[in-house]
Amino acid sequence: MRKNVVIYNRLPAPLVQQLSEAFNVTVIDTQGNVDEQFQHALLHAHGLIGASKTLGRHELQHAENLEVISSVSVGYDSYDVPYLSEQGILLTNTPDVLTQTTADLGFALLMSTARRLPELDAYTKAGQWTKGITEEHFGTDVYGKTLGIVGMGRIGAAIAKRGHFGFDMRILYHAGSRKPELEKEFKAEYRDLESLLQESDFVCLVVPLTESTRQMIGARELRLMKPSGILINIARGPVVDEAALIEALSNQQIRGAGLDVFEQEPLSSSPLFSLKNVVTLPHIGSATHETRYAMAERAVSNLTAALSGNRPQDLVNPEVWKG
Ligand code: NAP
Repeated sequence: MRKNVVIYNRLPAPLVQQLSEAFNVTVIDTQGNVDEQFQHALLHAHGLIGASKTLGRHELQHAENLEVISSVSVGYDSYDVPYLSEQGILLTNTPDVLTQTTADLGFALLMSTARRLPELDAYTKAGQWTKGITEEHFGTDVYGKTLGIVGMGRIGAAIAKRGHFGFDMRILYHAGSRKPELEKEFKAEYRDLESLLQESDFVCLVVPLTESTRQMIGARELRLMKPSGILINIARGPVVDEAALIEALSNQQIRGAGLDVFEQEPLSSSPLFSLKNVVTLPHIGSATHETRYAMAERAVSNLTAALSGNRPQDLVNPEVWKG
C-alpha cells in the first residue's frame, strides 16, 4: 500500500515529483482554506513535510495514522515534541545544510547594523546625498572588536569563524557546555551570560528557542550591555523581550540591533520600524535558492527514509525510533 504524504509548505517541483513516485501526495494549496484542507488531509496522512506551522496536540488530534513529521528547518520550537514522542510520531529536521548560509546572514546583519547600510541606502536613493556626509552618518567599526556569541553550536561556530579569521575579532561565547576545540581554533573565551553582555561590542544570539532561552535577553540583560553595544538576533524572536528591546533602542541605551526574527511573525507593523538604529529582516537566515533547495532535499530524504522503515538521518526524538 502506498503511504499518504501531505506537503504543507511549498517544495521545489522536482522534489514533489520525487515524493509522488513513492507516495500518494497531497499539496496544501495556500490560496485556499489552508486549515480545512490540512485537517482533511491529516485524516489519512502517514507523513507530513513543511515548516513554520505550530503542530501539537490540538492540530494533530485527528492524525491517527501519522508516523513522521519532516520539518524543513533546523529549529523545531513550533512542534510539541513531548506530545509527538508520546504518540510515537517521529520528528526530523534539517541541520548542517543551512549552517553557513545562516552564519553569512548573521554576519551581513551585523555589518549592516554597524555601518547603517539600509538607512544610508535609503538616504542615497531619496536624493539626500547632496553634500559630503558628516559624523551624523558615521557607523562603528567591526574589525578588531569583541564579538559575543550566545549559543556556540553549528551556526554559532560558523559565525565565530567569520569573526576570528575574517575580521580579527576577539570571540567570547556562552553555551550549555564548554567547547575546547573552538576555544583553540578561534581563540574563543567562555563567559557566563552577564560577563559576555558586559564585555562584547556585538552580541549575537544563536540559541534554539526552549523554555531555558525564552526571554533570555530582557531589560536587565540589555542594561548590562555597553551603551555602544549592538544586539543581533538570528535565533528566534521570543529569546528576546521585544518590548524591553524597543525601550532600550528608543532610549539609545544600546547603539542598535539587527533582527531577523520577532516575537510575532510575519510582522507588518511594529514600533521597531520607526527606529533608525534597527535593521529588520523578514526571517531570511536560510533563504537562498541553494540552501532552501538543500533543506528541502534533506527533509524529503528524512521523510522517505522514515516511511520506508529506515532510520532517518536527522531524528529530533530518536527515542521513538523502533528500528
Ligand atoms: P545547535 O547546533 O543545536 O546550537 C545551539 C547552541 O545553543 C548550542 O551551543 C547550545 O549549547 C546552545 N544553548 C542551548 N540552550 C542554551 C541555553 N539555555 N543557554 C546557553 N546556550 C544554550 O543549533 P544551530 O544549528 O546552531 O541553530 C541554532 C538556532 O538558530 C536554531 O535552533 C534556530 O532556532 C535558529 N536558526 C535561525 C535561522 C534563521 O532563519 N534566522 C536559521 C537557522 C537556525 P550546547 O552546545 O552546550 O548544547
